[in-house]
This record gives sequence, structure tokens and C-alpha cells, in this order.
Amino acid sequence: MMLTNLLLATLLNAEAIGGYAAGCLQNGVALPLTGPGYQVIRTKRLRYYGHPTLISYLQTLANQTRMAGLPDLYIADLAMARGGPFTTGHRSHQTGLDADIWFRMANRPIGKGEQDSPAEWPLINERRYQVHPGRFGPQQLTLLRLAASKPEVARIFINPVLKAQVCKQASTEPWVAKLRPWVGHFSHFHVRLHCPIGSPQCEPQAEIPAGNGCGEELDAWLKDKPQLPNVSGINKVPTLPARCQQP
Ligand SMILES: [Zn+2]
Repeated sequence: MMLTNLLLATLLNAEAIGGYAAGCLQNGVALPLTGPGYQVIRTKRLRYYGHPTLISYLQTLANQTRMAGLPDLYIADLAMARGGPFTTGHRSHQTGLDADIWFRMANRPIGKGEQDSPAEWPLINERRYQVHPGRFGPQQLTLLRLAASKPEVARIFINPVLKAQVCKQASTEPWVAKLRPWVGHFSHFHVRLHCPIGSPQCEPQAEIPAGNGCGEELDAWLKDKPQLPNVSGINKVPTLPARCQQP
């Protein structure tokens, strides 16, 4: 699989340039809107492009979840055709290496209306900051396990309440370390891949800390309903690398 990805990326000259939250994508490819084991939602936004390694990752994951007996995955935002910052929503997803996957799954083809504005299916009661009973089940755990176990995955952003559920059930499994607590993410998780081979100007993020993150670090997140950390400039338009500014 790695060879195929590399070959495809080389043939297309695909390149992730800059950082996840200040960068762009060259010669990205579109994820077909439906495929074995998945369906793309909110397609009007045109955010279903990615680096070939991301497209291949999602297709492989959907095949595996399907073989594990799971319904279709709902795939939400990847990146725009040339990457860069979205006008609305999240700050990252700029280099074609990030993707949002819903915890809800589809037993049938998603209709047009629902595809444009799918009903949220939050796993968490936001007021109580607890899991809705029955919503984080074996299928969601299987999905996370398959999604996080692949070597190309750098980290997965997940609500801390859900990470706590995983820690209860699978704390000794090595992929658990890649689940990083973050605010929001009541209905979906966010996969981030490592910089691929052939993208010399892709800026990696710091390595994840040692350990599975199930102890003190997670407790700190769970103690209070977490807020976005006070990072200066979090809402500013990022300065993109020079190569991203060429018309
Ligand atoms: Zn995301």
C-alpha cells in the first residue's frame, strides 16, 4: 500500500506545503463521493480533496470497517482542491492531510437533503458533559481502533469524554496514545496524517507525548468543561508559505 501511495503521489506531483493550519495542497485529488464502506456528506462545500495518501487512507479504512461489518462511514470535511484556510469552520485542514469522520454510520444510501445538511448525532450530552447512553458502542470503538492504528496517522483529535471511554476499554493498546483530547468534537473525530514522502516543505507537528494519555493529562481535560486554550492569534488569518500564494 505504501508503494502504491508513493507511486500515485509521485505521478501526480502531489505535495502538502506548510503547516496543517497555514499551508496549501498542490495537485490534490478528489475522494470519490461514494465508495465501498463510505459516503461523503456536505459535498456542496467542495471540501473533499486531499493528498493522495489521505484519499488512499480513507478508502482503505472504509474497506476495513466494511469488512468488520460496520455500516458506511460518513466522511465530512477533508480540504479544498488547493488546500488553504476555509472561510468557515476549523482552522486546520489546509494541506490535504486532515479529515473529519463521523461516529454515526449509515445503513442506507444517504439522501440528497441529508447529504447537504446531515442531522448531527452527538455522542455527548453537552450540558452534563457525559456520553449519551449507548452511543459510544463497539462499532465506534472498532472504527477508532482501525482509524488510529495505521502508521500514516500522526494523531486523532477527539472529545476528552470519549477518550475516557476508550481508556476504560482499551488503555493497553498502543493506538490509544494517538487520540488527543480537544474541545468540541461531539459528533465526529478528526484524523491527521504525518507529512508524506515527497513533500519537503510540509511542516510536521511535534511528536505526541509519551504514554497513552489516559492519566493526569486526561483528568485535567475532564475536570472542567474544557475551553479552547488561549492561544494568541487563533482566529487570525494565517500567513501562508510563499508557494501557497502563487495564483
Ligand atoms: Zn476537523
